[in-house]
Amino acid sequence: MTRVHRRLSTGNQLGQTQLMAFAADDIGLARAWVAAARRVVVLTGAGISTDSGIADFRGPNGLWTKDPEAEKTSTLHHYLADPQVRQRAWRNRLASPAWDAVPNPGHLAIVELQRHGKLLALVTQNIDELHQRAGNDPSLVLEVHGTMRWSRCWECDDRRPMSEMLERVRAGDPDPSCEHCGGIVKSDTVSFGQALVPEVIEAALSAADRCDLLLAAGSTLSVFPAANVVPRAKAAGARVVIVNGEPTAMDRFADVVLLGSLSELLPRLVAG
Ligand code: ZN
Repeated sequence: MTRVHRRLSTGNQLGQTQLMAFAADDIGLARAWVAAARRVVVLTGAGISTDSGIADFRGPNGLWTKDPEAEKTSTLHHYLADPQVRQRAWRNRLASPAWDAVPNPGHLAIVELQRHGKLLALVTQNIDELHQRAGNDPSLVLEVHGTMRWSRCWECDDRRPMSEMLERVRAGDPDPSCEHCGGIVKSDTVSFGQALVPEVIEAALSAADRCDLLLAAGSTLSVFPAANVVPRAKAAGARVVIVNGEPTAMDRFADVVLLGSLSELLPRLVAG
């Protein structure tokens, strides 16, 4: 099982990112379903962190939309084969706005679900750990694409805090290798073309099979197999609510689609 992605053409050209677009009753309906739900699975993508100052990848202002070359730093083959790509990746990590980012009201709304005792699992495609920083129990967070806050040696699997590696970059090493074995080091994230951790994605799909409400927030739902959480939950009889800044690849499975700002909509969904 490897991480693949398909491009969405819908929405991007419309410039409607912040437009609130849904029928008047939809938010009330979705809020009632959230209030009645007992076992909620939340799936989040980059869109929930944009209001924390972390740019997404595929949205209208996404990093890869504006600079397709940058996508190479997240593609395993290029990363392992090309020292220039790795050096660029280390510079990007050093400069990432994610280090100073703080959770926004969208993240905090999901913590509310946990406080109400109804959060079964929080499946995230994000690597920024803002859910844990917001207060979500780490044992409920399934990071299907790993975490940027740790590094891992491609050869010997040595795992250590990313801050240690970034110190070496700051000290002048443009592409620091493993101190144990000399191997290539990358962030402990799942690059394109890299296998997912089977236990993590299986736990996510298993939670989808057992939930009574699936809330997908801030994901284009175009990256697989993470996006399969949506049809799995639907097949299990769960209500499906999608909240995003633009249409998603899975809107046809949704009982309600709410288009708009996540940091505004998610708190309204969990209120009461
Ligand atoms: Zn090593």
